[in-house]
Amino acid sequence: MSDAPLKTNLLDLNKQDMEAFFTQLGEKAFRASQVMKWIYHHGVDDFDAMLNLSKSLRTSLKESAEIRLPEVVVDQPSQDGTRKWLLRVDSVNSVEMVFIPETDRGTLCISSQVGCSLNCTFCSTAQQGFNRNLGVAEIIGQVVLANRLLGLPENPAKRKITNVVFMGMGEPLLNFDPVVKAIDLMLDDMAFGMSKRRVTLSTSGVVPAIDRLREVHDVSLAVSLHAPDDKLRDELVPINQKYPIAELLEACKRYVEGHPRRRVTFEYVMLEGINDTPAHARALLKILRGVPAKMNLIPFNPFPNTSYQCSSQERIDRFRDILMKANLITVTRKTRGDDIDAACGQLAGKITDRTRRSERAAAVIQMP
Ligand code: SAH
Repeated sequence: MSDAPLKTNLLDLNKQDMEAFFTQLGEKAFRASQVMKWIYHHGVDDFDAMLNLSKSLRTSLKESAEIRLPEVVVDQPSQDGTRKWLLRVDSVNSVEMVFIPETDRGTLCISSQVGCSLNCTFCSTAQQGFNRNLGVAEIIGQVVLANRLLGLPENPAKRKITNVVFMGMGEPLLNFDPVVKAIDLMLDDMAFGMSKRRVTLSTSGVVPAIDRLREVHDVSLAVSLHAPDDKLRDELVPINQKYPIAELLEACKRYVEGHPRRRVTFEYVMLEGINDTPAHARALLKILRGVPAKMNLIPFNPFPNTSYQCSSQERIDRFRDILMKANLITVTRKTRGDDIDAACGQLAGKITDRTRRSERAAAVIQMP
C-alpha cells in the first residue's frame, strides 16, 4: 500500500486557506490568486496549463494537490431547457444539481448535504434520510462543474450561471462552515465574483444559524415557511417545534435590519386542502406584518408515495390574489423540468429506488 499523503483538493480552500497553503509550500501568498484565477476564471484543472507558475511549483503542486470535481452520473436535459445532473461525490453518495435558464438569468440550484435530517413531510429528499454533509470542494465543485458543462466563457458577463441558490438537497445552515466557505468563493473576485444578491441560501429556519450567517455573508435569504401557524408548521416543517414561527420571523427581521430595500423571500409550497385556503392567506398576511417580505408560491411537486397533491391553479391564483391585494409581492414559481423530476430529491430518489428494486429483484432470484 502506498503511504503517500493525501493530496489537498484546492477546491476545499477559500482565498485565505489557499494563501496559507502556498505559504506552507514556501511560496508567496499571491500565488493563491494566480491559481484561483486559473481554476475559477479559466476553468483549468491541469497544473501544467498554469503558465505563470514556475515549473518547480507546478511539479510540487502535482505532488501535493489536486483539483477534483464531483462526477456526473446522470445528465438529464428537459424540454424547457432545464438541465438536471446527478453527481457522485464518493463511492456510495450522490447529490443533485439543476440549471434553470430564463431570459434574463441562469440559476444553478445546488445541494449542501447528501440527504437531509429535517423530515419535512412534503419533501422527497427527507424520505432518503440524512447521509452526510458535503465538503467545500463538493459544494463549490458543483458550480465549477456546471460552468464547465454549460461552457465557461472568458468574459464573466457572458456566463450562463448568473445566480446560485442553495435549494437542492440538504439544509445548508446545518452544514454551516463548508457552506460559508463555498459562499466565500462564489463572492470572491479571484473566484466567481458574484454579487451577494445573486446567491440565495434557502433554509427551513435554523434560527441561531440565520444570525450567524448575517455576521459573515448577508447573501439573499429564502425561508421555507409553508404554513401561517405553529400547529400546521410543526407538522409540515418539524424543525418548527424547536424554532417556532415568531422566533423565526424575528431572526428574519434582524437579517435585513439596516438595509431598507432588502427583503426575505418566503417559500410556500401549495398543498391542496392543507395550507392553501383564503384563511391561510389572511393568516399569513397577519404574521408577516412588519417583516420585509416577498412571497414565493411553489406548486407542490409530487413524488412516489406522497399523500399530498398540488393545489389547483384556481386555488393558487386565489391565494396569490389575496396576498397581492395586501401589497405583499408574490410570485408563483413556474414548474420547470417536470419531465425530468427536477424538484429536489426526486432524481436521487429514483436512482436509490431503482437500486433497491434491483436488490429486491436479486433477492427474489436468489431464493431457493
Ligand atoms: N433545506 C432548505 C433548502 C432545500 S429545499 C429549505 O428547507 O429551504 C428548497 C425548497 O423546495 C424549500 O422551500 C422546500 O421546502 C421546497 N420543496 C421541497 N420539496 C418540495 C416539493 N416536493 N415540491 C415543492 N417544493 C418543495
